[in-house]
Amino acid sequence: MESKKTNKMKTNKQIRKAGFTLVEIMIVVAIIGLLAAIAIPNFVKARQTSQTNACINNLRQIDSAKQQWAMENGAVGGSTPTSDQLLVYVGKSGLAGSDVCCPLSPKGTPMGGYGTPIDIGAVTNLPWCSNYDANTHRATLNPTGLNTP
Ligand SMILES: [Zn+2]
Repeated sequence: MESKKTNKMKTNKQIRKAGFTLVEIMIVVAIIGLLAAIAIPNFVKARQTSQTNACINNLRQIDSAKQQWAMENGAVGGSTPTSDQLLVYVGKSGLAGSDVCCPLSPKGTPMGGYGTPIDIGAVTNLPWCSNYDANTHRATLNPTGLNTP
């Protein structure tokens, strides 16, 4: 009789051991939350950095295309090519050039709407991105860090 009771108690204890307590679950959730709080700002920053680098690369392409355009057309320093005139020199033609676009601007327009989001500027001036932001989108070819057109 007594041994039967002990067996029953043992069974209850074993069943209880199979689950997690509220405190254990709360600790796990807190650890996951802590890791997410550390990781998410880093992901955001990495995304911004890669978008800025892609934009700077586009600006380099546009600047080089501008110089080529000026050479071939005998343009003077003060003249400004249109985005359509530059398409040939960035290796694109027509709507296929839409991937030469600031990552912060909507895609789909020829050269990513470089006339508006990224100002091409005159031949002697550096092209610039109108999405420029000193903290989040520091896309500029200007060595002084300024982004004047
Ligand atoms: Zn940009």
